[in-house]
Amino acid sequence: MDRTVKPGADFFMYANGGWYAKAEIPADRASTGVDFRLAEQAEQRTRDLLEAAALAKAAAGSDTQKIGDYYASVLDEATIEARGIKVMNKVLDRIARLEDGKALSELLGSQLRADVDPLNNTSFHTDHVLGLFVEQDLNDPTRYAPYLLQGGLGMPDRSYYLDPAAPMEALRTKYQAHLATMLRLAGIKDPAGKAARILAFEKRLAAAHASREDSADLTKTNNPWARTDFAGKAPGMDWDAFFKAAGLDAQASFIVWHPSAVTGLAALVKGETLQTWKDYLTARALDHAAAFLPKAFVDEAFAFYAKELGGVPAPLPRWKQALYLTDDALGFAVGKAYVERHFPPEAKKAIETVVHDVVTAFGKRIDALDWMAPATKARAQEKLATLKVGVGYPDTWKSYEGLNVVRGEALGNFGRAELFEYRSRVKKLGQPVDAGEWAMVPQIDDACNLPVRNALNFPAGILVPPNFDVASTAAANYGAIGATIGHEVSHSFDDQGSQFDAHGRVTNWWTAEDLSRFQGQAGALAAQYSAYQPLPDVAINGKLTLSENIADLAGITAAYDAWRASLGASPAPTQDGFTGDQQFFLAYAQSWQSKEREQALRMALATDGHAPPNYRVWTVRNIDAWYAAFDVKEGDPMYLPPAQRVRVW
Ligand SMILES: [Zn+2]
Repeated sequence: MDRTVKPGADFFMYANGGWYAKAEIPADRASTGVDFRLAEQAEQRTRDLLEAAALAKAAAGSDTQKIGDYYASVLDEATIEARGIKVMNKVLDRIARLEDGKALSELLGSQLRADVDPLNNTSFHTDHVLGLFVEQDLNDPTRYAPYLLQGGLGMPDRSYYLDPAAPMEALRTKYQAHLATMLRLAGIKDPAGKAARILAFEKRLAAAHASREDSADLTKTNNPWARTDFAGKAPGMDWDAFFKAAGLDAQASFIVWHPSAVTGLAALVKGETLQTWKDYLTARALDHAAAFLPKAFVDEAFAFYAKELGGVPAPLPRWKQALYLTDDALGFAVGKAYVERHFPPEAKKAIETVVHDVVTAFGKRIDALDWMAPATKARAQEKLATLKVGVGYPDTWKSYEGLNVVRGEALGNFGRAELFEYRSRVKKLGQPVDAGEWAMVPQIDDACNLPVRNALNFPAGILVPPNFDVASTAAANYGAIGATIGHEVSHSFDDQGSQFDAHGRVTNWWTAEDLSRFQGQAGALAAQYSAYQPLPDVAINGKLTLSENIADLAGITAAYDAWRASLGASPAPTQDGFTGDQQFFLAYAQSWQSKEREQALRMALATDGHAPPNYRVWTVRNIDAWYAAFDVKEGDPMYLPPAQRVRVW
C-alpha cells in the first residue's frame, strides 16, 4: 500500500502504491503484477510435470508421452538447427507452384484452422486468411454451427495498418523490415521488394476487416450464410474448391462473423496478382512456423512481435516458450496432470460455496431492480437457475487419441496438433451439443463466460492466492475471487448476455423499456471510462470496454452482497486495523495489482476489451459502501455525487 495517497485520490495507488514504486517489470515481460506472479507459479508447476513426462518413457500414444515429447522436441534446439529451413520445403513449394485462382482457393481452404471464441474475444490472431470456430448455433441451441472469422494480418488489428498516427506509421515501417528479414533468412529472392508489396497487400486486407467494436456487436456478426450464398455474396474465391479442401463441403450453412472480411478476401483472390499472393502466403507461413524454426527465425520473430509490438526487451527462456507451445497444442492433457497435483477437492468445494453465494446475491439484486419489468425478471431468474458453473476443471477430459507426437519433430508436431484441433472441431458438426465442454484449460490464470451454453469456467489456475486463500479472511476472499465470479456471472446478463436466453438462443428477452433504461446506465459507464486518458494521445475506448466495465461493477456489487450475507448476524472481524468493508475493497484493488510497459498499454488500449487494471479498480467510485469505508468526500478526485454513480445491477 501507499498510505500517503488518500483512498479517494487514487484508490489503486492507495492499495498498491508501495508495491508499484518498487516493482520492476522482468525483461522478458510486457507487464508485471498479480497475473505475472500467478503465471510464474503455474509455469513452475507445469515445467516440473512436463520435465517429468519427458523423462518418463511413457507408453506410446499416452497423454504423458505426447506432452513429454512435444515439450522435449521444442527444447531440442540442436535438432531444429540441424534440420534448418528445409522443414518448410513442402509448404513453401506448394505455395510456389500455385497456378490459378482455383489452386489458390484450394490452398486457402486447406489452411483453415481453429480460431478463438469470438463471443469471448475481439482479438483474432490466426495467421491464415480465415479462422474457424465451432460452437452451439446462435440461432438453434440443438446443434453446432461453424463460425467463420477474419484473419491473415501479420499485425494485431486493422488499426495497425490504417491508423495515420505517427507511432502506428513507425510500426508499419518496422513490420515491413521484419517481413524482409524473414524472407531473406529463408533464402528468398528480392526480400525488400516483396516485403513492400506484402505490406501493401495486407493494408488492402485490413481495410476489409471489421473493427473490434463491430466484432463484439451481435447485430453485425450473427450472419447465417447458406453454403450456396458464398459465390454470390463473396465473388472471386472458388468456394467449392475452398470448402472441399477445408473438409467442409458437406456443411449446408455457416455463421459469417465478419462478412466484410470474407467479401474483401474473395475479391482479393481475383483482384491480386498470383505473385503477390505467393509472396504474402510465404511470409505468413514463415511467421506462423517461426517458433519451431532455427534460432535466427525465432530471434527475428521475437524482435518484431515481442519487442517492437509488445515492448518486451528480452525473449522468454526456451523452456517457457516450449511450455506455452505445449499448452497450446495439448492443453487439457497438461491440465489433467496439473490438477491431479495442485487442485485438491477441498479447494473445489470451498470455491463452490463462494460461487453459490455470489449467484444467490445476484438473483436477489435482479429481484430488487427498479428498471426491469417483472416478466423480464422471471426470464433472468430462469437463466440464473440454469447457469452451469464449472470450478477447477471439466467433468470429462478432452481426448487426444489419434494425434501423433514424434520426438525430434518440433514443427511436424505443431502442424499435426493444429490439424488435429481443427478436425476435432469439424467433427463436432452434426453431433449433439456437449454443454459440459470447457473452453479454457485448467492451468490458466483466467476465467470465462460461455453465453451460448449459459455456462462459466473458473480454471484451477486462477483459484489460488491472492484470488482465493483458505487462510485469508472471508472479506478478502469475497473481495478478490468473489468479485471475479460476480464479473463472469454478470456477463450472462450484460449487453452481450442479455441477447441470449437460458438455452443460448439469440433472443431479445427484454422489453424495449428494459433495454433503454439499461442502455442509459450503460451509456453513463461508457462515458465515465472514455474520460480516462492512460496515455497522452490515447483515451480508453468506453464502448470497446463497456461489457467488461459493466461486469466489473456488477461483480464487485454482487460479491459485496454475498459477503455481507455470509456473515449472518455476526460482525465482520477487523484485521491489521482494517474493518471488514475496508478489507473487502482493498482485496479487490490488490487483486488488480499490475504495472505495464507503455507499448503494451498502447496495444491493450487498441485491442483489449478490458480497461487497464488501475482503471478497473476505479469502478469502486460507483459503490456507496466504498465511500463510507474510506471516508471519501466531495473534493476528492475519485468522488462522484450520488446521482452520477452508475448502478446497472
Ligand atoms: Zn469479462
